[in-house]
Parts: sequence; C-alpha cells; structure tokens
Amino acid sequence: MSAIVLNGKELAAELQADLAVEVADFIENNGVFPCLVAVLVGENPASDVYVRNKRRACEQAGIESQLHRLPERATTENLLDLVHGLNKAPEVHGILVQLPLPRQIDETRVLHAVNPLKDVDAFHPENVGRLVQGRPRFLPCTPHGIQELLLRRGVKIAGRHVVIIGRSEIVGKPLANMLLQRGPRADATVTICHSRTERLAELTRQADILVVAVGRARFVTADMVKPGAVVIDVGMNRVPEGLVGDVDFEGVREVAGMITPVPGGVGPLTISMLLLNTLAAARMQA
Ligand code: NAP
Repeated sequence: MSAIVLNGKELAAELQADLAVEVADFIENNGVFPCLVAVLVGENPASDVYVRNKRRACEQAGIESQLHRLPERATTENLLDLVHGLNKAPEVHGILVQLPLPRQIDETRVLHAVNPLKDVDAFHPENVGRLVQGRPRFLPCTPHGIQELLLRRGVKIAGRHVVIIGRSEIVGKPLANMLLQRGPRADATVTICHSRTERLAELTRQADILVVAVGRARFVTADMVKPGAVVIDVGMNRVPEGLVGDVDFEGVREVAGMITPVPGGVGPLTISMLLLNTLAAARMQA
C-alpha cells in the first residue's frame, strides 16, 4: 500500500495565514513592524533562491524584510561590521546570515556575533545551550518544522523510536535535542546516525520515525525502512531531473506509512518557522 504523503506546502500556508493575523495584531498593539534582515555573501544561485523565498513569505505575512548583499571577496571583518550594526539597529528584530559563506570567512565567528535576541536561526551558542537544557528562546527552524508537521498530522512522537541520519548543527543535532525533551511534543527515544555509523540499515529499520538529512540524492531505499514507518526527507539535492530528496521517494512510499515529498515537504515549513521566530524576536524586543 502506498504511504500517505505529508504535504508541507499546505501546512506552511495554514501556519502562515495564522501568523499573518498575529503579525497584524502585534503591529496594531505596538506600532512596530517586525523586521527580518537577510545577509547574503557572494553569488550562490541556491542561496539566492532560498533568500528570495524567505523574503516573499515575509511579505505575505506582513513582516518587513531587508536584504544586505556583500561581494564574494568580503572578509570576516566586513561581515562582522555589518552584523554589529544590525545588532544595534532597533528596527531590526531578526538577523539571518545565509549559509554557506565563502571559504575565506570564519563562519563560527560570524554566527557567534549575532545578538542572541535577534538570532532567529537559533545558531548562537547561548540559544543552542538553552535548547539542550529544555528552555529554548527560539526553536531551530528546520527541526521545528519537522516537529510541527509530525504533530499537526497526528503522528505521535512520545515513546517512539526516532532515527535521524545526519548530525549537522542545523538539522540532526538540534532535532535530536528537541525530540529528547520531556513533554508531549517530544519524549522520543532518539538515535543519531552519521557517516561512521556501522550497520546503518539495521538501525534505520528500527525507526518508527526516520528523519534523513544526509545531502545525498535518494540515499535511503525501501529495504532500509520498517513497514509503516514515518519517513521525513530533509535532503535537497539538485540532479539533472530537478530537485530530489535524500530518500528514494517512489520505492520508499511503497513501504512507509507516511512520507514527505521533495520539494513541498520540509522546505516550506523551515520558512514558516523562521517567520514565527521573527515575530517572537520582535515581541521580546518590543
Ligand atoms: P551536512 O552538514 O552535510 O550533514 C550531513 C550529515 O550526513 C553528516 O552528519 C554526515 O556524517 C552524514 N552522512 C554523510 N554520508 C553519510 C553516509 N553514507 N551514511 C550516514 N550518514 C552520512 O548536511 P545538513 O546541513 O544537515 O543538510 C542535509 C541535507 O538537508 C542537505 O541536502 C541540505 O540541503 C538539506 N537541508 C534542507 C533544509 C530544508 O529546509 N529542507 C534545511 C537544511 C538542510 P558525518 O557527520 O560523519 O560527516
């Protein structure tokens, strides 16, 4: 039997419609427009698309957005100057430094320079630490999108075995930290796998919920999935046919109980959560 396809695009539209109402209320009550600033360095066509999508979503939700572009040859100091200026600007509530940055730039120094109250990506160590301790200020956008999709589509997380392939700071680690917390939105048993994991398929076949964030097209095949499992595909890989995920969608959908498509799965929800964080940041600073 074919899996239920979890439509992230549809859920993102629902969430953003609700958010637009909250943004309008905030503006009316505070006389302040929530504002997200994106910083883009160099020429990266994929980053251009992501930033354009984020700005379009801001506009639709009534959130102001600005774009600061720096040239490919920009230095760490150039970027730090810009970030320090944005940290001080009272009209800026959220700062998003689009990754990846050109190689000469010290990414860690830049991300650590963002004011933690404006750190809507939740990459600053203070925000990471708070998340690990179970008292987050902002939830990281992609993991939050995944959690929201599961819960809103009736997938029980508590007590279940979640296997995550990928231990990045952006997806794998923060998602594991979120789903491990106590409470009805989490309480999962979590296993994280990576490139040095032995007998990967044995582990993935134990997953009630399998999250794949590897960055390799169609990496997870049907034989790696337990029948009826929920499969969340975070991957975005450009191949000659277009954009594909880390999961062999056609094969895995015949085994899984639920599956996210690429595109139209996790990606749109990442943007919704960024907007949510921007409103939260504006509230904190109001
Ligand atoms: P990343 O930083 O490159 O991490 C990839 C992870 O996969 C690493 O932990 C790596 O292990 C692991 N891995 C690589 N080969 C493996 C193998 N053969 N077996 C098991 N594990 C393996 O990637 P990321 O930033 O998390 O992104 C992953 C994918 O998600 C990319 O396609 C990215 O474009 C996409 N993404 C999508 C969204 C969205 O909004 N939809 C957001 C973020 C990322 P090691 O740690 O051992 O190297």
